[in-house]
Amino acid sequence: MVADDRQNHDETALAEAILEGARRRPKQSFGTYFDGKGGSCALGAAYEGIYLLPTNVAEAMPHRLDRFFHCLESVSRRCPAGCKKHIPIGAMIIHLNDDHHWTREGIADWLEHPPTVVKGD
Ligand SMILES: [Zn+2]
Repeated sequence: MVADDRQNHDETALAEAILEGARRRPKQSFGTYFDGKGGSCALGAAYEGIYLLPTNVAEAMPHRLDRFFHCLESVSRRCPAGCKKHIPIGAMIIHLNDDHHWTREGIADWLEHPPTVVKGD
């Protein structure tokens, strides 16, 4: 595999974006990127962390984040909450947020500290 370094960087940057977005909107939302009441889900926070949206954004649907974070579609991980799902990171972030109600900080931490399988080479 050639892309390991870039992927790790990607995931760290994504985690930082989520944390930045979560700082801006302390309330977490579920089932929607932005709930119109000041909350954001983990991907909404990532989006906001990148673009620093105005605080009155409500229904705006983000453009596809996978243009900015290759890992969202290209890297799959097993669900850290133990439900046997193995899906791309972008879908997993939504899954952890909506289905397991993980905090955005928890999701960011999981992104930054992957359960390393094997060190290559
Ligand atoms: Zn799960």
